[in-house]
Amino acid sequence: MKVRVLGCSGGAAPGRNPSCYLLEGGVAIDAGALASALTLEEQQLITDIFLTHAHWDHVRDLPLTVINRTIKAPTLRLHGLPETVQSIRAHLMNGETWFKAFDLPSVESPFISASPMTAGETRECGRYRISAVSVPHTVPAISYVIDDGTCSVMMNADTVGGGIFERMPKDHSPLKAVFLEASFPNRMRDFAVMTGHLTPQMLGEETRHLATDVDVIVTHLKPGFETEMAREIADLGRPGIRPCRDGDVFEW
Ligand SMILES: [Zn+2]
Ligand SMILES: [Zn+2]
Repeated sequence: MKVRVLGCSGGAAPGRNPSCYLLEGGVAIDAGALASALTLEEQQLITDIFLTHAHWDHVRDLPLTVINRTIKAPTLRLHGLPETVQSIRAHLMNGETWFKAFDLPSVESPFISASPMTAGETRECGRYRISAVSVPHTVPAISYVIDDGTCSVMMNADTVGGGIFERMPKDHSPLKAVFLEASFPNRMRDFAVMTGHLTPQMLGEETRHLATDVDVIVTHLKPGFETEMAREIADLGRPGIRPCRDGDVFEW
């Protein structure tokens, strides 16, 4: 399993793109950096996007990558909770903030098609089996367990946590890594909880029962807090834990 990190920041600044992860075979998890981090040619090769939730930092580049696709590129399939898809239709590609890409150039053959997915559902996509796991956040959100038949990786949505790994499906290939957010430093725990996020200390509690041979890649650090949080992540003392960086390529 190979994961290319196009963006893993909780915000945006030069060198920091919002959430977007690319699997082999044209499958992306979230769309925060699809247009910013991929060449035009690479953008044509995306076939499926799995959205964790509708927040702006996870969908930012979706309208732009849609318009960057050539007429020959296949319809882009968008997977996500029904509520997420509805938010994109109503607030992003609604004929006001952007054109109605779900209905144009024709309803039969649009730029982008919606494939709503419910928590607990498992979907075959290319070489992967992708399962949706509900996680608590300030809006409906799902994490994804991605299984390539040899190993599995869990890509988590933004979440305040609360036993999310106990909700994982049990019938997947051996779990090699989890991508999990920590947005604010430990001293901002109350604010993190209020906004549906984790701190490094909370992430430590969340991952306490995960086997120690599972890598923990920490994502979604808010810009400006990275140095302080890198120390707090290291202080957890867990083997195989590290902050994620844009441009990272992981292979398991
Ligand atoms: Zn976010
Ligand atoms: Zn969010």
